[in-house]
Amino acid sequence: MYMEKKLKTIGLIGGMSWESTVTYYQVINETVKDRLGGLHSAKILLYSVDFAEIERFQSEGKWSECASILGRAAYRLEQAGADFIVICTNTMHKVANQVANCVDIPLLHIAEATGSVLKAERVSKVLLLGTKYTMQQDFYKQKLLEAGIEVVIPDEKGVAFVNSIIYDELCRGIISDVSRKKLIDLCLNIQQKNDIQGIILGCTEIGLLLKQEDLPSCKVFDTTLIHARRAALFSLNV
Ligand code: GLU
Repeated sequence: MYMEKKLKTIGLIGGMSWESTVTYYQVINETVKDRLGGLHSAKILLYSVDFAEIERFQSEGKWSECASILGRAAYRLEQAGADFIVICTNTMHKVANQVANCVDIPLLHIAEATGSVLKAERVSKVLLLGTKYTMQQDFYKQKLLEAGIEVVIPDEKGVAFVNSIIYDELCRGIISDVSRKKLIDLCLNIQQKNDIQGIILGCTEIGLLLKQEDLPSCKVFDTTLIHARRAALFSLNV
């Protein structure tokens, strides 16, 4: 018989954007329910930030201000009883180390969780889609490289296009068929020119627009689903 008290409490830092935090909440609960059955659900504490504040600091390059906001959130989650921390966005893992330093509980890194799934599936070269920060800076790609995965990103125009879909549409709740079609074309074009074996949806909102069935010729790795499932399993000590 499963001992309920063994279920760890998950501390989510969400709201970046809240559109994708909804998916985390749903997938974590579904995963726990699938494992435990009955009326079981996940033990979750959510600290949801004001994304306008975060986005302003990002665009001004004020990452230490972002780190302070998320670090305080992590500390409060720990004080409230969280057993581990999950930052519900890829981009903000740029300050993952600073956030982890604010608490004595573990932080489940989204790129590490993704890297392990890719390794398990023997995928060694991927296209990474995400914000311009995630695609162009090193903090995220480095984790994948450490897992032995080669990363391809779109050209300058492609980066600007994917970044604008994220901030101008998906984070505002806009799901556009036109953008989906353009994003599929961009992926197919890059797939033709590079021998990629998979595509990482390295932004927690992209899965709201693009699904595996939209790209049957390539394996799609949705970081939101991977991270949320990993968090649920970790809370179950699996
Ligand atoms: N949720 C997005 C990500 O996974 C972008 C929003 C943000 O800048 O945090 O990167």
